[in-house]
Formats: sequence, C-alpha cells, structure tokens
Amino acid sequence: MNSLTLESPAKINLCLYVLGKRPDGYHELLTLFQRISLRDRVRFRRTRSGFRLQCRHPLVPCDSRNLIEKAWRLVQSRTGLRGGMEVILDKRIPVAGGLGGGSSNAATTLLAANRLFGLRLSQPDLMEMGRKLGADVPFFLLETSRAIGRGRGDELQPLAGATKLSVLLTLFSSGISTKSVFESLSRPALGPTLTKLNCDIIMISVFLASKDLKGCSTLLRNDLFKAAHRMKPEIGRVLSFLRNSRPASAMSGSGPTVFSLAANRVETEAAASEISRKFGLATWVGSLY
Ligand code: ATP
Repeated sequence: MNSLTLESPAKINLCLYVLGKRPDGYHELLTLFQRISLRDRVRFRRTRSGFRLQCRHPLVPCDSRNLIEKAWRLVQSRTGLRGGMEVILDKRIPVAGGLGGGSSNAATTLLAANRLFGLRLSQPDLMEMGRKLGADVPFFLLETSRAIGRGRGDELQPLAGATKLSVLLTLFSSGISTKSVFESLSRPALGPTLTKLNCDIIMISVFLASKDLKGCSTLLRNDLFKAAHRMKPEIGRVLSFLRNSRPASAMSGSGPTVFSLAANRVETEAAASEISRKFGLATWVGSLY
C-alpha cells in the first residue's frame, strides 16, 4: 500500500468539569467526549524520504508546528522508520474552535503511518504516543463514538453505543487559544463532589441514549465557559438565544464553538438559519457519529 485517505473527525465535549490544578501544571478534568460527523480529509502517501505537508487553510501552519508533522516525527523516533511521507490536509474543522481538529489530525497520522509502513504498533503503543502529542489525541485513537476523559482528559473510559441525534454548531469568525482560556481560569469554586459529577456524566450518556434532551440539558456544564465568554462575549449571547428553544446547548471544549443537540434534522436546519440571520455567524448541521 502506497497511499491512504482517512477521515479525521471532530469532537464536542458534552460536558467539561474542571476539578482543580495538578502539580504538573495541567488541570484535572472530567469530560465527556463525543465524535461528530464533521471531518477533515487527510491523504497520506509513502515516499522514499523527507516529509511534506500541504494545506490551503490560512490558519494551519505547514511546518514543524503542525501536529501532523509532530506525529510523524514521533513515529520516526519511536520506530527508527527511514521512509518519508507526503500529506495533503483538506481542513474542514474550524481551527482553534474547541473541536479538537489538530489533535484528531495527529491521531489520524499515527494510524496512517502504522498502516502504510506496517509498523505493528499496538493500541497501547499508539495511546502512549498520542498522550505525548496532546491530551485530546488519545480519544481519536479509539473506535468508540463517546468516552469519559479523566486526568488531563487522556485517561479514557469508552462508552458503548451511539445515538442518532442532529447537531448544530455555531461557528465564530475567529478561534480562541486553549492555553489562554486555561490560564485565565479563576480558581474553581467549591462545587459538587466528584461522586456527584461522575454520576452526572453517566446520566448524560443515559439521557442521550434515550434521546431525553431535557434530561441531559441541566448537566451540560462547561467550566471553561466563563473564561471563554470573557474573551468573546458573543458566545454567551448565542447560547442564551439557543437555550430558549433548545435546552441541550453548550460550548465545546475551550470554545468558542457552541453546539446544540436535537432529535429532528429539519428543525435543526431551521435553527441554523435563524442563528445565521440573527447573529451573522456561520453554522454547520450534522450528527453525532
Ligand atoms: P483543542 O484540542 O485544544 O480543543 P482546538 O480544536 O481548539 O484544540 P485546533 O484546531 O486543534 O484547536 O488548533 C489549535 C492550534 O493548533 C491552531 O491555532 C494551529 O495553529 C495549530 N495547529 C497545529 N496543527 C494543526 C492542525 N493539523 N490542524 C489545525 N490546527 C493546527
């Protein structure tokens, strides 16, 4: 096999609880990752030597800062692989949107290199390499549609089953840096106990499985919202508007993208048109995946 084209999916965080700061400087998180049908397309081609990445998106660096190149370098150093690779990235996931696009591309690169070069890297090997590339990367190495993330978000508990629900994304014209959101987080207030939060996260999944969106709406908390909202007040305006008629709406990851779930696709498309008309923002309609 000389070339391979893979889809690199986006995720939303159905909820994101910040539990505190860890001695290593990262935050301790409890989150529920969910794949959605929004995907980048990545074409990989084996070459004799060297590495080349092409991407037309103006905000995606095509040099050593790109997570695709970082993943490739990690594979090389880990396996001693001599060959080269050419990659063409068709970027559709909004950049710095809280949808994990770069992390997903990194995971896809690990999977592609493993297959193209017959490296026989095991799932635990890949997960360990994914963790080195970023806290969101391991989720995209799983085949599951939904998983609980603990620790930095990289200690994963896959959840069985997928739910067919429509998703509306409200996209903002510019992204937010994940680092700056975490840096401007105020000290978490004393909140519910860990036992309660663990229970809430399971309940979200149970409500989703039965398409009980009212039930899950009260639990879709994102502790990064306040910090992201300070940087981009428009997030709050969109969210308040959506929640009037669509309670299962929240910000994904470190924002700014806002997601909104519903059972009905036609109604979701109508809500998308309303958001575009009222706020002049781009939207995307798809499904949980
Ligand atoms: P997070 O995983 O932190 O939620 P995000 O989804 O908000 O990330 P990304 O789209 O992954 O954000 O982009 C974050 C930054 O990473 C961008 O500003 C970009 O400069 C850089 N970057 C590096 N590689 C990639 C890539 N393959 N795709 C998109 N951005 C990349």
